[in-house]
Amino acid sequence: MEFVTAHGAGKPTWAVDIGGTKTLLGRLGGGVLTVVAVIRTPDDPAVLAAWLRRQVPGRVARLGVAFPGGLDEDGRVTAWPNRPEWVGYGLRDALGRIARAVVLRDDGESAAAAEAMYGIAQGRPDALVAVLGTGLGGALVLDGKVRRSAPADPRTLGHLAALPEGSCGCGGTGCAQLALRTLPPDDRLGDGLEGWPDGLRLVAFLGDLVRFLSVPTVVLTGGLLARPVLRAQMRVRMAACGVEVLVPARPGLSSLLGAAALEMAG
Ligand SMILES: [Zn+2]
Repeated sequence: MEFVTAHGAGKPTWAVDIGGTKTLLGRLGGGVLTVVAVIRTPDDPAVLAAWLRRQVPGRVARLGVAFPGGLDEDGRVTAWPNRPEWVGYGLRDALGRIARAVVLRDDGESAAAAEAMYGIAQGRPDALVAVLGTGLGGALVLDGKVRRSAPADPRTLGHLAALPEGSCGCGGTGCAQLALRTLPPDDRLGDGLEGWPDGLRLVAFLGDLVRFLSVPTVVLTGGLLARPVLRAQMRVRMAACGVEVLVPARPGLSSLLGAAALEMAG
């Protein structure tokens, strides 16, 4: 799969988007983001590191990584409610065998950077970027800059309380990303998400958030938005909250592009 972007005309750079379900390895060069390989994210992070070593030729200069969990200053995993087995793993050290410099970023921040700098949110100084996949990630863009959360803080967008009940792997109750667990197939969504009550609560939560923050634009991205019926219904429901709603053409690649492009920017 290839995705043409205006960015990345210089030296090729490598990027990894580690997700709760699958991991993408990509290469950005000559203005084209190429997905080189895809693997189901293993429970054992050492298995993923070994797979990456087989995919990447030699030891490259730098590698950008989009990651959904919390990380400490040394690049060690401090929290990942979807994959508790990863906690304590030295991700930066392991990937240091693949690249001389490893740049780790929150996946929501990576997606926000990609869409704000090179994607669909270009020209919008203020936006909330929500990434819907196995979990819910996201970041705020204010004055054209991605606001970064504390790297080790697991309280990302998906772990803010938005539902009346449900226990989350983070220890919280009613976390927003729990809504994704009850997502039905397209033919049971109804005409406007009526078949997904938690989805309506998630949309209302995002709507309340952007109204409170006076942010006029919401970017919905992430692998789930590749489903046309879901994308259309979420777009309509979200717009009913009185905000501009943007969905990129390749929502499954936002975080990967951000990891690659951030790497180049660094
Ligand atoms: Zn949670």
